[in-house]
Amino acid sequence: MTYTGRCACGAVTLQIDGKPLMARQCWCRQCQTLAAGGPTNNAMFPTDTVQIDGVLGTSTWTAASGNTLAFHFCPACGTQIYAQSSARPHIRTLRIGVIDQPHDLAPQAVIWTDEAPAWAVFDPDLERFARQPPPPAPAPQG
Ligand SMILES: [Zn+2]
Ligand SMILES: [Zn+2]
Repeated sequence: MTYTGRCACGAVTLQIDGKPLMARQCWCRQCQTLAAGGPTNNAMFPTDTVQIDGVLGTSTWTAASGNTLAFHFCPACGTQIYAQSSARPHIRTLRIGVIDQPHDLAPQAVIWTDEAPAWAVFDPDLERFARQPPPPAPAPQG
């Protein structure tokens, strides 16, 4: 499976050759800050399936778990491209907004609902976690 994508200004482009491990919607406070008050929608891919072209800016943040999260973004337009946890270098968490449509990526779970605003609406068909869920299983071999 191949996905392509780009930031809002086009300075950063990407291609993913592989399947997502998981996709989630996150309502943590940090994501609300990054995403104009809404959640972030993220698809996790094995790092070796993701190729990114263009210059990225990086900021870091310490998660509730104590892990360092690195946020990679286009420094020209500010679009968030992906996040990476210090605990899981083999996974890149791509922001679904940068993936070109049409695609089949959609959240399978909603996380950090404890931090969502009162007006947030959660898809009743999706699994919910009040806070951080367990990490995804390791990628299958081959
Ligand atoms: Zn850009
Ligand atoms: Zn979050």
